[in-house]
Amino acid sequence: MKSFLMENPTSLDEAVELLGTDPSQAQLLAGGMDLVGRMKKRVDTPPRVVNLNSIPGLASVQDNAGGLSLGALVTLTDVAENPAVLAKYSAVSEAARSVGSTQIRNAGTVGGNLCQRPRCWYFRHRQYVCLQKHGSECFSEVGESRYHAILGGGPCYFAHPSDLAPALIAYDATVRVVGPKGERTAPLESLYCLPAEKLTQGLTLAPGEILAEVRLPAPRPGTRSTYVKFKEKPSFDFSLAGVAAVVSFENGKVVHARIALSGVAPIPWHATKAEKALIGAKLDEPLARQVADLVVENNAPLADNGYKVALTRTLVRRALLSLDELQRK
Ligand SMILES: Cc1cc2nc3c(=O)[nH]c(=O)nc-3n(C[C@H](O)[C@H](O)[C@H](O)COP(=O)(O)OP(=O)(O)OC[C@H]3O[C@@H](n4cnc5c(N)ncnc54)[C@H](O)[C@@H]3O)c2cc1C
Repeated sequence: MKSFLMENPTSLDEAVELLGTDPSQAQLLAGGMDLVGRMKKRVDTPPRVVNLNSIPGLASVQDNAGGLSLGALVTLTDVAENPAVLAKYSAVSEAARSVGSTQIRNAGTVGGNLCQRPRCWYFRHRQYVCLQKHGSECFSEVGESRYHAILGGGPCYFAHPSDLAPALIAYDATVRVVGPKGERTAPLESLYCLPAEKLTQGLTLAPGEILAEVRLPAPRPGTRSTYVKFKEKPSFDFSLAGVAAVVSFENGKVVHARIALSGVAPIPWHATKAEKALIGAKLDEPLARQVADLVVENNAPLADNGYKVALTRTLVRRALLSLDELQRK
C-alpha cells in the first residue's frame, strides 16, 4: 500500500474542508472494508485519508413517531440488531444481516455500504483500465461476465453491490448530505445513476460531499417487508441477486408496494412498473409471477449471466408470496 496521511477531523465541516473536491487527493474512511482493499490493490492511491470515525455523533440510531434516523457510522451489525429496525423495518434488518460475515458487519457502516465502489473484478484489478478508470472499454462485455448486470447496463456493466441500499430505497429513505455547498436532503435513490447517464461508479454525490444520515419515514399501517438474497458462497458473499419488497396491505389487498434489487444492475434497481401491477390486487401466485416478469422486463444479459434472469424472477416471486403469507397471520 502507498503511504498516506490520515486526517482525524472532529466535525463534518472540518471533514468537508479536509476532503476537498478531488478524489485522487483525498478519500473518506468509514469502516475501511472497501477503501482499504482498493488502496491495497492500488486501484485508489489517495495521499490523504479523512477518517470519519473521529467525528462524534455519527453512529446513533434514533427512532421516533416520525420515523427512523441512521447515522452514517452506524455499523451493519447495529442496523441488523436494532430493536426498532427489527420491529418496523424487517427488510432493512434482513438486508444488513445478509451482508458479508460477522467481522464485515461489525466494521462496515451504513454510509460506507451505500457509497462502496463496484465489486467488478475488472474495476478492482489495477491492470485493467476500464471505463470507470477513464479507459476506453468495459472488459465485461467481451470477458468474464457472470457476476455482472442484466438490467440497465452499458457502457459499464458492473452490478450494484450493496444489500442495504435496495432495502432502504424500498422504504423510501432519504439522505442528509453535507458538502462544500452546504447541506441538502435527497431521496436515497437519487444518489445512484446509470453509467449511461454519467460514468460515476454509480454514485451522484458531488465532489467533496459526505453522506451524514439516512432517514426512513414511519412505515404505513399493514406493511410487511422482506429482503431475499441469493449468493454463490454459502458462508459470506455479495448478492448475485437480492430483492427488497415492502408491501402495505388493507383488507387483504395491496395498497402500496416497493420493490428494489441489488446485484442485477449498476444501481439499486427500482422496479416501478412491477410495483404498479400490485396496487389494488390480492397477492397470489399468478400475480407474483406476472410482477416477477415485469421486474426483469427489458433484461439484456451478457455472455455468462443469463442465469440471473430466472434467478431474479424466482426471488421476486418468493419475496412477494412470503409477504402475502405474513399478512395473513
Ligand atoms: C469480503 C467482503 C464481503 C462483503 N460482502 C458484502 C455483502 O454481501 N453485501 C454488501 O452489501 N456489502 C458487502 N461488503 C461490503 C461491506 O459491507 C462494507 O459495507 C462496505 O465495503 C463499505 O463499508 P465501510 O464502512 O467499510 O466503508 P469504507 O470502506 O470506509 O468506505 C467505502 C467507500 O465509501 C466512501 N464513504 C464511506 N463513508 C462515506 C460517507 N459517509 N459519505 C460518503 N462516502 C463515504 C469511502 O470513501 C469509500 O470510497 C463486503 C465487503 C467485503 C470486504
